[in-house]
Amino acid sequence: MRHIRLAELLDQPEKFETVTVKGWVRTFRANRFIALNDGSTSENLQCVVDFENTDEKILRKINTGAALEISGKLVESAGKGQSLEIVVATIQIVGEADPDFYPIQPKKHSFEFLREKAHLRARTATFSAVMRIRSVLSFAIHQFFQDKGFCYVHTPIITGSNAEGAGEMFRVSVLDPKNPPIDTDGKVDFKQDFFGKETNLTVSGQLEAETYAQGLGNVYTFGPTFRAENSNTSRHLAEFWMIEPEMAFCELEDNMDLSEEFIKYALKYILEKCDKDLSFLDQRLANDEKKKPKNQRSPMGLLEKINFVVYNEFKRITYTEAIDILKNSKPNKKKKFDYVVEEWGADLQSEHERYLVEKHFDAPVILYDYPAKIKAFYMRMNEDQKTVRAMDILFPGIGEIVGGSQREERIEVLERRIAELGIDKEDLWWYLDLRRFGSTPHSGFGLGFERLVLFATGMSNIRDVIPFPRTPQNASF
Ligand code: ATP
Ligand code: MN
Repeated sequence: MRHIRLAELLDQPEKFETVTVKGWVRTFRANRFIALNDGSTSENLQCVVDFENTDEKILRKINTGAALEISGKLVESAGKGQSLEIVVATIQIVGEADPDFYPIQPKKHSFEFLREKAHLRARTATFSAVMRIRSVLSFAIHQFFQDKGFCYVHTPIITGSNAEGAGEMFRVSVLDPKNPPIDTDGKVDFKQDFFGKETNLTVSGQLEAETYAQGLGNVYTFGPTFRAENSNTSRHLAEFWMIEPEMAFCELEDNMDLSEEFIKYALKYILEKCDKDLSFLDQRLANDEKKKPKNQRSPMGLLEKINFVVYNEFKRITYTEAIDILKNSKPNKKKKFDYVVEEWGADLQSEHERYLVEKHFDAPVILYDYPAKIKAFYMRMNEDQKTVRAMDILFPGIGEIVGGSQREERIEVLERRIAELGIDKEDLWWYLDLRRFGSTPHSGFGLGFERLVLFATGMSNIRDVIPFPRTPQNASF
């Protein structure tokens, strides 16, 4: 008999009479009802055991977590909670799970507990749903860019340039940490290291993506990035995945249009392809919400929130407009913000971003034209000589989900900025070359994949939307 996965079986049950299914036991009730799940769907399949005619030894091994192979007839279920069930004809214990030691029990475990069991958490309903959505989302991202003719470029993970400036870096070295070679200045001599220079894990593929955009036109990267920032928040990982499109002949407005279209496409894609998993998570969140006091409940459910983003325009305002709104806001006047907004030029804190997105606009917001002082050297200078063509997309409950800009394509302006910021020009010779030969107005952005998965699944901690999170003091598994 052909082994059928549950997603296929439950999708078109009329096609099947007797089947073989394989999966793991979620629960076993009354020596009779197995809830089996094989990871292909959030739904379990009920398998009814004829316990009077089943070997006692086998029955004892049907425990939560055990792997089983079951064959039998598919029938309509009389019980409530499911429409189908299998009348078990044969049952085989493929892999036992000793109930005295198997840590995942058929009850609600906290996400903190499950992080310590990250090798087993894919066996839970919530994590398997999150990981399936993550998988479909990443496919949607490729589909979006491929349909538009973007070229997928693989930018390097080990980088020799330390001018990216997006965050603290992890050093890559084969030198003996106890006894590194020392140069005449008394510093570690990286000339003797593997690459003959200091190297790090990349914080962004942007600079390299720009070089390929200046030949292929439209490109995107989708790969891992690393930041050694010691920020233990629910929004930051030390290793995360980033999508970075980069487009030649493209100005900031086109960049904003593309980023908005892109996010809407990816979310719409999962609304269509992941309806069961999303409904499951929607329900899970709704149950959690019910336990909260009324005034702390979220006004929208998960599906409602996703639909809202897909079918509403993002609000676009300049940094300067945002500062005016914030200055005149109630929490600012009453000094309720930890950082009171006083003058133009200050970096926005997440409390300010949240106010704009969640209170003032109640919608995703694209903030653009930031002060040059708080943004990276490569962003295009505006006429006012004070602001640059940067844009960030802020999302409800998430904060910044996208950071992007139009890049400075004028060699003199770029060189001036590099000098002003004291960045080593030698490191960037190839980046400057792009402005010397056939320079074009070009733009791009970076979207943190896990932040999108957070939004799409309604999870609240970024550690729970990546299979094995890397955070300060934690690289287990
Ligand atoms: P933040 O202010 O949230 O730290 P950032 O300004 O450092 O973000 P960028 O350098 O613009 O972020 O990176 C582009 C995108 O990558 C961000 O918009 C965000 O979605 C994501 N991102 C940045 N840092 C992290 C991180 N440590 N973990 C997960 N995603 C991140
Ligand atoms: Mn950061």
